[in-house]
Amino acid sequence: MKVLSPPPRLLMGPGPINCYPRVLAAMSTQLVGQYDPVMTGYMNEVMALYRQVFNTQNEHTVLIDGTSRAGIEAVLVSCIEPDDKVLVPIFGRFGYLLAEIAERAGADVQTIEVPWGEVFDPQQIEDAIKRVKPKVLAMVQGDTSTTMLQPLDEIGEICRRLDVLFYCDATASIGGNPLLTDEWQLDAVSVGLQKCLGGPSGSAPITLSPRYVDRVMKRHHIEAGIRDPHHQQARGSKIRSNYFDIPMILDYWGKERLNHHTEAATMLYCARECAINLLDEGPHRVIARHQTAGAAMLAGIQAMSLKPFGNIEHKMSNVVGVVIPDNVNGEAIRQELLLNFNIEIGTSFGPLKGKIWRIGTMGYNARQDTVLHTLQSLETVLRRAGFNLAEAGAGVDAAMHIYGGGE
Ligand SMILES: *Cc1c(COP(=O)(O)O)cnc(C)c1O
Repeated sequence: MKVLSPPPRLLMGPGPINCYPRVLAAMSTQLVGQYDPVMTGYMNEVMALYRQVFNTQNEHTVLIDGTSRAGIEAVLVSCIEPDDKVLVPIFGRFGYLLAEIAERAGADVQTIEVPWGEVFDPQQIEDAIKRVKPKVLAMVQGDTSTTMLQPLDEIGEICRRLDVLFYCDATASIGGNPLLTDEWQLDAVSVGLQKCLGGPSGSAPITLSPRYVDRVMKRHHIEAGIRDPHHQQARGSKIRSNYFDIPMILDYWGKERLNHHTEAATMLYCARECAINLLDEGPHRVIARHQTAGAAMLAGIQAMSLKPFGNIEHKMSNVVGVVIPDNVNGEAIRQELLLNFNIEIGTSFGPLKGKIWRIGTMGYNARQDTVLHTLQSLETVLRRAGFNLAEAGAGVDAAMHIYGGGE
């Protein structure tokens, strides 16, 4: 077999994206043992770094080994007991995923929906909470399936007032859009590395409020085989997953370092570098870089007489949906971009399948050159497919204008 040598694609879809160079370098770094003081030192650094990434003081800020949905599943399965009511406001594909995971955890799931391309008004959520009286509200911040960003700043206060635990999946939005865990009173947040944090998929940082932790600690069952006489008796109903049992995972990350899984060291190295990348550049600067790249991509798309999808007032900074024009074969365009230009853009799911492309500008790829290359190449591919564009070069000119290079 040949030496591994993937083509040098430019990943401009809704994730994954190309990694930051220092994250790539971290992946080829040698391992240390899981209880080596160097490794436990890295674990402590990762906790401190992600407190800053999440804008929180939460002590319990750790990694779940697995892709983003491992974080979702750990948070939900650990706090849901059979027949607990969980409310999921759905505005895209990932809302359905939260509902599905909560249902598998045994919850009585109630959903409310807005049309794809829109977001909720906080009053709609307050009304639904009053009607359903859930124990948990589970909600996505940025749903890449529709590109919409749900405002969260007023929802935490509603949840505290009505005694509801508030969980948010911020995988797609963190790093490229503001996320203020403590100020917005979020009880649990989970994310992944492969969007604006600029890493590979495979590690899911989470942060948990004392309120959340109190609740799951009522179901603390230490495995036989690692239990010592000084450990408290098991209490509450057993969490239905061993791998995603947050009390046991916190024992592993905490002072006692009780064995659970073997920490995925290489992914932890990546998560560490992703956080340092963000914090070294400055979270505000990174968000601004995503906003500029997103605005340039949007301006370019519009200047090419293509139509962005959804209510763009509520669009995430880091991804834009582009309505596939009539008489254009969306998949053929994507194929041509991928195979002849080495540029990947995204397709869509569910009701938007075949209707929109999704173009991301995230992490390492939230840059002027990537935006310009993508717009220029898309224009060329569309022209060759016979699509009547506004004016040659209009997309790139509009994007350059956003970057201050216009006339
Ligand atoms: C991309 C995305 C995920 C990805 O989940 P994986 O398990 O890492 O594939 C999860 N949630 C949201 C909102 C996303 O946009």
